Amino acid sequence: MYCYHHPDRDAVGTCIACNQAVCPECKVEYDGKVYCNSCVQRMVSGGDTMAPQPASVLMTGNTSGMGSRASVPRELGEWNWGAFLLTWIWGIGNNVWWSFFVFIPYLGVLVMPWVLAFKGNQWAWQSRRWDSVEHFKRVQHTWAMWGLGVTIAVTVLLTVILLLGLGLIVWGLQQSGIQPF
Ligand SMILES: [Zn+2]
Ligand SMILES: [Zn+2]
Repeated sequence: MYCYHHPDRDAVGTCIACNQAVCPECKVEYDGKVYCNSCVQRMVSGGDTMAPQPASVLMTGNTSGMGSRASVPRELGEWNWGAFLLTWIWGIGNNVWWSFFVFIPYLGVLVMPWVLAFKGNQWAWQSRRWDSVEHFKRVQHTWAMWGLGVTIAVTVLLTVILLLGLGLIVWGLQQSGIQPF
């Protein structure tokens, strides 16, 4: 038996809501029962009364995009450089609207990058649908690379502007007959 969504992968169970076969990536355990990712997503967003909804029930499996009750895979408990460096830009790409707190004067700029770096993986996992942990890691790696690139570019640009400005001041002083050095 193969997964309904991934015909090339072996199924590990069947969703009790739609009877379709699920692979490890599509399987979500909810209240101890096996569902497929799309059924749980529908239950959670549509408020399906058929589904068990106690707040204490924790979903496991590929629970990405299912909000705060989704459990975050253990291997994602790491520092998110993309979120740290790109903050709100990363937030737009990952549906993490908390990132806009970075616009709070002073406090936002000082605190939010650290919060995002620590909580970024959790929030991004819970608020967006990802194919798998590997998919998530791959995309976050790209974000980190972009963050690094942008940071380096901005640093170089600021240094050039600073040096140009200093040069202009020295030149101006020399023109008016003052020797600064
Ligand atoms: Zn289903
Ligand atoms: Zn699948």
